[in-house]
Amino acid sequence: MLEDINEKCAVVGIHGNNEASKLAYFSLHALQHRGQEAAGISSSNGKKLQTIKKRGLVMRVFDEKKLETLRGFSAIGHTRYSTAGDDSILDAQPVFARYDLGEMAIVHNGNLTNAEEVRNKLIANGAIFQTFMDTENLIHLIAKSEQKKLVDRIIDAVQRIEGAFSLVFLSRTKMFAMRDRFGFRPLSLGKLSNGGYIVASETCAFDLVGAEFIRDVEPGELLIFEKDKKPQSIKVFEPTPKHCIFEYVYFARPDSKIFGQSVYQTRKNMGKELAHVKPVEADVVIPVPDGGVPSAIGYSQESGIPYEMGIMRNHYIGRTFIEPTQEMRDLKVKMKLSPMIDIIRGKRVIVIDDSIVRGTTSKRIVKMLKEAGAKEVHMRVSSPPTTDPCYYGVDTPDKSKLIAANMTQDAICKYIEADSLAYLDKSALLRSVNSKEDNYCTACFTGEYIV
Ligand code: SF4
Repeated sequence: MLEDINEKCAVVGIHGNNEASKLAYFSLHALQHRGQEAAGISSSNGKKLQTIKKRGLVMRVFDEKKLETLRGFSAIGHTRYSTAGDDSILDAQPVFARYDLGEMAIVHNGNLTNAEEVRNKLIANGAIFQTFMDTENLIHLIAKSEQKKLVDRIIDAVQRIEGAFSLVFLSRTKMFAMRDRFGFRPLSLGKLSNGGYIVASETCAFDLVGAEFIRDVEPGELLIFEKDKKPQSIKVFEPTPKHCIFEYVYFARPDSKIFGQSVYQTRKNMGKELAHVKPVEADVVIPVPDGGVPSAIGYSQESGIPYEMGIMRNHYIGRTFIEPTQEMRDLKVKMKLSPMIDIIRGKRVIVIDDSIVRGTTSKRIVKMLKEAGAKEVHMRVSSPPTTDPCYYGVDTPDKSKLIAANMTQDAICKYIEADSLAYLDKSALLRSVNSKEDNYCTACFTGEYIV
């Protein structure tokens, strides 16, 4: 699938450690796959907040000198994805504000579904907005709340918003972490080995900074971090879990544990289910790297068909914006992916991808494999057809661009010129993630939206 669908952000928070901003920086490195357009960190030394944010990758935005200026025992950080045309630094996070109780910074992963309505009301009451971000609504709601304490203002504010939010707030002395009642986006809590706590979008950040996973922040839970105290928990909403199943399909790093399970193992389960429900005779199973790798291993183990790295991925080419002609578009895929001709030539190949969004990348991959001499190409997809856009924090093309919303499976197979095409169905996907109850959002496969 490569870059047809993008996670919008990652968040991290460190509290109770004098290396807070450095630990936030390393955590953002581990979370870079969730957003590459901008990065930022705010820190607090108990007296004031400092913020640095800029467009670019984490390692380009920060250096030793900049991190030295972000002193203190607490820091929050963010990496952001944005669409190609949007280059406003104002839309990078953390969002910082001064208000009657002092200073505050916020980072947010998710998407507020009533953002426009809330914003229009705030503007009608005299609020002035600097950015297009729904996160800025929270600053205004907190600043305008009539509650006396920040914690009560945060509770007041989150009761006025709807949708997906994993949030981390920083004040001069405290840090707060909050997840919406559905727990759409992941957020985990860990303990740092040299003192203090960490919250992060994925546990791969914990591994890098030497933190021990404690548990997920519960859907609807607010955690309050104060120096030299254990985090205090407040149940703001009754939890009704609807975790984003696409985190398992594509976004999260395979070495993370999210929603209580290993991402790698879950993807392997998807491949095993796929082999079980959509078998086909073939000589070799290959993944579309990197997303298809664990599922292809699972497919191979279940089917007994040998696994090979039949396609190599070039990791060193960022985004390419030049695509004026058909040949240039084909070249773009070839720059990223190249076939291992000796593995493919003369073989019946099963190629596993995590999803098909527009269909154009799949078409080019099939063409590339056939040009490399594959006798047959059978496309297997480790998720159901993507038929609907996401409103909960994932950047998806409109419905008109989603191939499965506009073509039957047979028509897609013909369009991508594969010898066969099969997807994992919803019930097999739910089995792969061990969903005993209906704990997952699957709206981009079903159109059944939760909020
Ligand atoms: S619609 Fe899809 S991508 Fe969005 S939260 Fe639900 S499962 Fe995740």
